[in-house]
Order: sequence, then structure tokens, then C-alpha cells
Amino acid sequence: MNRNVITFSKNVFLPLTTVCRNRCEYCCFRTPVTEHCIMQPGEAEYTLARGAAKGCTEALFTFGERPEEEQGFKALISRIGYDSILQYCHALCEQSIATGLLPHTNAGIMTAEELEYLKPVNASMGLMLETTAELPAHRNSPGKVPEVRIEMIENAGTLKIPFTTGLLLGIGETMQDREESLTVIRNLHKRYGHIQEVIIQNFCPKPGTPMGNRRGISFDEMCTVIRTARDLLPEDVAIQVAPNLADAASLIPCGVNDLGGISPLTIDYVNPEHPWPGEDALRRSAWDYLLAERLCIYPQFIERGWFSNELEPLIKRLVKHLPVQETSS
Ligand code: SF4
Repeated sequence: MNRNVITFSKNVFLPLTTVCRNRCEYCCFRTPVTEHCIMQPGEAEYTLARGAAKGCTEALFTFGERPEEEQGFKALISRIGYDSILQYCHALCEQSIATGLLPHTNAGIMTAEELEYLKPVNASMGLMLETTAELPAHRNSPGKVPEVRIEMIENAGTLKIPFTTGLLLGIGETMQDREESLTVIRNLHKRYGHIQEVIIQNFCPKPGTPMGNRRGISFDEMCTVIRTARDLLPEDVAIQVAPNLADAASLIPCGVNDLGGISPLTIDYVNPEHPWPGEDALRRSAWDYLLAERLCIYPQFIERGWFSNELEPLIKRLVKHLPVQETSS
């Protein structure tokens, strides 16, 4: 991996539903079942079309986990013609490919069969490990049991799905927990070779949530975790920070080489109070590194052919047209 390059991708964010079976104590994304808890097909298709017109290459489908477990949700999803949120997501992934955007789905916990169902229409998929520690913040979140998350990441490896995972910092875990989490990710990658990036994400307290009065982690702690990640993880795994949540310019020298997805169109629905920086701001953050746009499937997985026939023409077309951007400094 070239250490002098900082990568990013350009996406549209589609939160297909805000309903979730979990109750994470830091969450401001989840809502009860209401008339407005599902993104309607027309809005999703409009967002995809506008994203493609603005030069985005990725459709990020992130939404609540197993919403069908919440009372009333099934009736709402059947009203738009689907049996489940994953079936709806699959249809929109197909629409996304037809529009010219590569789908990347993060739907929380899925079974191996569900991953296999979505794999042909996703260039990559993701699930934050968050932490291997059992924490009070997750006491009412069955999907946040560490073993369940590790099993899903392992299933993605068995299925050869290019995968994004990461740590959420500052939710009650210790430095030892962070090292253990990174070690688990490293070992999964050594076994399956499927981890393309590890997000080191700082928890941002949300007013009105049970953890709203907590303090986020310090810059020094963040830098220490990034350095530890760079030491523990193999060279072919990118280390990413979210440029709307953390001081990317200061953290790049700690070992960051990817700035994740930014969007010219949609907000970060999980952290709506933190707007994306524009490309010019990213370029300034990258200092004298080369800032390069990438797809949501990393080059090594394209070379290995870890994509379906459905995705091949679009991946090949987008690779040819990726601009390389020189830094301004
Ligand atoms: S899994 Fe995600 S959406 Fe669901 S409660 Fe936790 S943070 Fe919120």
C-alpha cells in the first residue's frame, strides 16, 4: 500500500429505515415505527439519480437492524410491496447499479444466507465491530453482542465479500478492549483476507440520549488507537477516520490513510450535526499527501475478482473514470 496516498469516496447515504430492534444508549438515529420511518422508493430513486449526476460512485445503504422485530413495521414495508427491509434493499441495490452507483450495504446483523442474498448486488458490505467488550451502552442491543458481530464478519469472509469494519471509541471500553478488538479484526483478515478498511470512529455524544452527557475521547487517545491499529493491522488494510467527526488533518500523521465517504448531496444521518467537509477541505486536510478518489471496493479486491457479473461492467467503467486529485500544498 502506498503510504503517500490518502483516499476517499463520494457517496449518497440512504437510510432506508430508522426503525431498529436495538437500543444503543448513544444513538440518535433510531425512531419508533411511524408513517415516516421508511424512505419511500421515489425518494430513494431520486437520491440515486441525483447522486450519479453529481459524480458520486457509491450508494451507502445504512439502516436500523432487523426492523421487522418492531411492532407495526411489517405492515409498513408490505405497503410498498416488500416482505422485508432486506428485500427492499436488494431492489434498491439493483436500481443503484442501473443508475451508475456501486451499492455498499450496512444493515447490522445478517445471517450467512442474508449476506449471500445481498452479495451479488453489493460491491462491498460493512459492519462495525465497535468493540469486543460487553458494555452497559449495549445492554438492550442484542445485535451488539460481540460474538454475534464477529460471527457475521467471519461469514462475510467465508463468502469473499470485501468488508468494512471498525471500532467505536469512547463508549465505555478500555484501551485493552481496543487492542483486543483490533487483534480480532487482524486475525479475521489473516484468515479470510476480506477486510478492506477499519474505521477508527470517535463516539460523539448526542443531547437527549442516555449517554448525552459523556465526553468524547481526546485527540491523544484517538491518535494512540490509530497508531496501535497501524501496528497491529496488515499493510493492505486501510485505516479510516470520518473527516466530519474527527480532526483528519492532525490524525493523518498518526497512520490514517483513508477519509471514508463524503457526500455532495446527503447528510450523515447517524451524526446529522456534523456536516461533511467538501473536497477542497479534504484536500487541505491531506497536506502534502496525494488525495485520490476510490470506489467502495478497493483495488486489490477488483484485481482478485471479488465481485459479481452484475457489478462487473459498472466497476470497470467507474475505475476508468476515477479522477486523481493533486493536493494543493
Ligand atoms: S444498532 Fe444503530 S440504529 Fe440501532 S440503536 Fe444501535 S446505533 Fe441506533
